[in-house]
Parts: sequence; C-alpha cells; structure tokens
Amino acid sequence: MSKIGFIGTGNMGGPMAVNLVKAGHEVTAFDLSPALLEPVTEAGGRAAGSIAEAVSGAEIVVSMLPAGKHVRSVYEDAGGVLASAGAGTLLIDSSTIDVDSARAVSAAAAKAGLAMVDAPVSGGVAAAAGGSLTFMVGGPAEAFARAEPVLQAMGKTIVHAGDAGAGQAAKICNNMILGISMIAVSEAFALAEKLGLDHQKLFDISSKASGQCWSMTSYCPVPGPVPTSPANRDYKPGFTAAMMLKDLRLAHEAAAAAGAATPLGRHAEDLYTQYAEGEGQGAVDFSGIIKMIRSLDG
Ligand code: NAD
Repeated sequence: MSKIGFIGTGNMGGPMAVNLVKAGHEVTAFDLSPALLEPVTEAGGRAAGSIAEAVSGAEIVVSMLPAGKHVRSVYEDAGGVLASAGAGTLLIDSSTIDVDSARAVSAAAAKAGLAMVDAPVSGGVAAAAGGSLTFMVGGPAEAFARAEPVLQAMGKTIVHAGDAGAGQAAKICNNMILGISMIAVSEAFALAEKLGLDHQKLFDISSKASGQCWSMTSYCPVPGPVPTSPANRDYKPGFTAAMMLKDLRLAHEAAAAAGAATPLGRHAEDLYTQYAEGEGQGAVDFSGIIKMIRSLDG
C-alpha cells in the first residue's frame, strides 16, 4: 500500500480519495475548501492544510482539479507539487484539461526529475463513488505500470493511451462523440414526438438497431426507457451541461491547434453554449438539452 497525497476533493475527487483509503492506502488530502476533506477523514484519511503538507512524504500524488489553469498552478507554483514532492514521487493528474497544459506540466515534472501521467476519467460521480471509472492514461510506460494498481482502486478500466497528453486527447475525442450523440438522440426523440411515435417504441428499436449508442442505451434523454438516466429525475446531474460545454471547447481548441476539421463538434459546442449560457442551464444535466431542441423552430 502507498502513501498518497490527494489534491482536489470535489464532486469527483472526494469519492476517489475515499476509495483509495478503503483500498488500504494512507491518504493525506488537501482542498481549498476544508469542508470537502471531511468525507476523506471520516473514511480514515488525513486532512492537510496545504499542498506541501499533502505531498510531503507521499510516494504518489493524485490530483482532481477543475481546469488547466488550476493544474498548472497546483503543480508549478511556489509551494506547489513539483517544489514539494520528494524524489521518486509519481504524479497522477486525473483532471480533464487541455492537451497543451497536460504536456507542459508533464515536461515541468520531468525537468524536476519526477514521473507524471495524465489520467482523465470517463464516468460521473456515481462511477467515482462506485470505483468503476474508466482511466485514459498518457505518459511513459514505466510510469503507467506504477500508476495502474493505484488507479485500479478507483476504476474498472485502465487504458494506456500513449505518451504525455494522450489521456487528455482520448478524453476530449470521446466526449466530443458524447456531446454530438446526445444531440442526435435528442433530435430523434423530438422528431418522434412530432411524428406520434412512442418514446419506448423508438428506444426498443434504436437501442437494438443501427442508431444504438451510449446516449440512447445508458443515458436516454427522455424519462422511462432507462430508469437510471437523469431524465427520470428532472435532469438533475449527472454530468452538467457546463462540463459538456467545457469539454467541447477543449475539443475545439485541440482541433484548431492540430488543423483537424470537426464540423459537428463545433455545432454541438454552439448548441451547448446556447443551452448552458444563453438559457442559463449550465447546472442542469447535459441530457436536458432535449428541452431546448424541442423548443427550437422547425
Ligand atoms: P469540482 O469543482 O467539484 O472539484 C474540484 C475541486 O478542486 C474543488 O473542490 C476545488 O476546491 C478544488 N481546487 C481548485 N483549485 C485548487 C487548489 N489550488 N488547491 C486545492 N484544491 C483546489 O469538480 P469535479 O466535478 O470534481 O471535476 C473535477 C475534474 O473532473 C474536472 O476536470 C472535470 O472536468 C472532470 N470530470 C468530472 C466529471 C463529473 O461528472 N463531475 C466526470 C468526468 C470528469
């Protein structure tokens, strides 16, 4: 079992840190909001008053932060992870951030003599609590081999995607598919309603036919067919529209930098901008976009 410093115990990081404690690791956690450390200490972990305190003596550091600027600051600032971690500490950042920031922090870690992987996750708060996240990992093979057993305490599927930044690249590509497919499924249900076709009938057919996809079979945007989907609880998240918009913007930035055409990704970003910001629905589950689709002029 390892000594682990955990930075960022929010919606995702909190339950992830608790699962590390339950797996027998010695976890010391830090968050800007001390109240968020309580679930970790209740499970048997320790609360730290600073990044340096959480990282001091740790063999492994795991971070789960909102965006690239937070990750750069937590790792690179004076008193941050790179300045505080001892030789040989393995760094694992599981935040969803832009590929460039992930590569920059990883290069700064390498310069400080520390191995690092980017390991963003797929799966929401329920998967974080249930220890069933999917981790997409970028970084050197030796660092991945060290990270894998720790990630197994928090997830079910752990994939080495390639070199530094490859985990973030995989996450951004996956979530661009998700954003586009949720809009596609929502449009299909909105059209079915206008055509007098029953929700359950469309589900029974499309979930077995060529329209089958995760947005249909696991996260259906209308109530009924998939009892666990947020549509059954008035679109309480889940995964918020604001988070989806963040990921579509990351995909847009990455595509622009790489010279890749992503016309549907761009259109999905426009629609989520309208829903999350124009209509102020950022805190609603991203599948709630079906309500806006229904309201658009035909
Ligand atoms: P969150 O806002 O609930 O948690 C982030 C935490 O980081 C907060 O508690 C905040 O106080 C802390 N933090 C910020 N700056 C800090 C600093 N300098 N030092 C210490 N702590 C700091 O967000 P979340 O929902 O847990 O998401 C975290 C990451 O996981 C994001 O990158 C998100 O895109 C990704 N993600 C979220 C979900 C989801 O369903 N919520 C799913 C997959 C991936």
